[in-house]
Amino acid sequence: MWNKDIEAIDRKDLEALQLKRLKRALELASGTSFYGKVFRDNKVDVSKITTLEHLKDLPFTVKNDLRLSYPDGMMAVPKSEVVRMHASSGTTGKSTVIFYSQKDISEWADLVARSMVATGTSKNDIFQNMMGYGLFTGGLGLHYGAERLGCMVIPSSTGNTLRQIQLMEDFFTTVIHITPSYALHLAEEIHKQGIDPRDLPVKKAYLGAEPYSEATRDKIEEQWGIDAYNSYGMSEMNGPGVAFECTEKAGMHLWEDFYIIEVINPETQEVLPDGEAGELVLTHINREAMPIFRYRTRDLTRIIPEPCACGRIHKRIERIKGRTDDMFIIGGVNVFPSQIESVLMKVPEVGNNYQIVLDREENLDKIIIKVELYSKMFQGDLKELEKLRKKIVEELRALIVVNPRIELHEPGSLPASLGKAVRVIDNRKL
Ligand code: AMP
Ligand code: ZN
Repeated sequence: MWNKDIEAIDRKDLEALQLKRLKRALELASGTSFYGKVFRDNKVDVSKITTLEHLKDLPFTVKNDLRLSYPDGMMAVPKSEVVRMHASSGTTGKSTVIFYSQKDISEWADLVARSMVATGTSKNDIFQNMMGYGLFTGGLGLHYGAERLGCMVIPSSTGNTLRQIQLMEDFFTTVIHITPSYALHLAEEIHKQGIDPRDLPVKKAYLGAEPYSEATRDKIEEQWGIDAYNSYGMSEMNGPGVAFECTEKAGMHLWEDFYIIEVINPETQEVLPDGEAGELVLTHINREAMPIFRYRTRDLTRIIPEPCACGRIHKRIERIKGRTDDMFIIGGVNVFPSQIESVLMKVPEVGNNYQIVLDREENLDKIIIKVELYSKMFQGDLKELEKLRKKIVEELRALIVVNPRIELHEPGSLPASLGKAVRVIDNRKL
């Protein structure tokens, strides 16, 4: 399934394909009530888009546009051609709904299968899919891709930890798909059963759906004795399979025959040259039921300009550093939860769960970081714990100017996460 013709395509040919697909997507979209109006209001003449550069003449699309066009203002094919819908896992406001035609579903499966092949997975693998099935794209997205590749798929979905363990053992699961927070939690649960996760047949994990640090990847690889690959996507762009790491594990190839990538300065909205960090903006040029142009993902990353050693020419993006909207400012300093996580996960005594609580007392910002430790830490001397607490404070001081209060907790005492983790609780009424 390594498709050399498309994955190692000449850039000129790729750009010609992108332009052809972009034009078709624009034609389809001009028939929708949402984009029809956007193009009229912004005086966009679709027939005059003749180079990829012209993409910059189109306005951005934001999440709220999808809410405004709810339920079907962006549907670009007759309803009878739509075979599936999904919705974003967002917890705020009306959900944003995405439509797919038969062709869209089939090509999405191809894209996911291509991504899995890039990590060395084959039809001989047993694939246990521990992502949510339902409106969320994570479950079904990887499910059909893995089937397309010919893996045996175990659609175990989230939760039910004991059954997950039994399935892994009984059916010799070799590849799992899981959120990083659940991977950490599950490793602990497996230990509680008297099993070392390293003794399970699992060799590989796809980790995605939420931001996590390189240190967390290292930790999961170590705890499970596996290779973990970063998987990135969002419902607006299909779901998973937008960008995936190859066996080089050095950034995620973003499949440019389906998506046009831009990185912008989120404040000025100026398009940045490759290599500079900013907000990822994506155009879906190959989905007939619902084309979306210049979608502001709110995800912060950078294009890695150097070619990848694997031979794939599709541009790579770096691990997502955070979202323009999960960044918090404490004592006037911008902090990403992922930065705190990086520091914590490098401390060997720190367990698998943590929570950041922001508060304000007498107009002063306060940050409380609740950290779970491994249980052996609570068997020893209190002095040792105090020393460790101070050490964590010191490590974090370089990052956050405000003195962090560190609370040490026993394993399992913080709310466990089965899906996307809620890491930051902001009690400041900002
Ligand atoms: P949803 O549309 O509900 O699937 O949510 C998509 C969002 O999840 C993305 O815009 C990212 O913010 C986040 N996300 C998905 N995969 C990753 C990943 N590998 N690393 C960091 N964030 C991710
Ligand atoms: Zn590569």
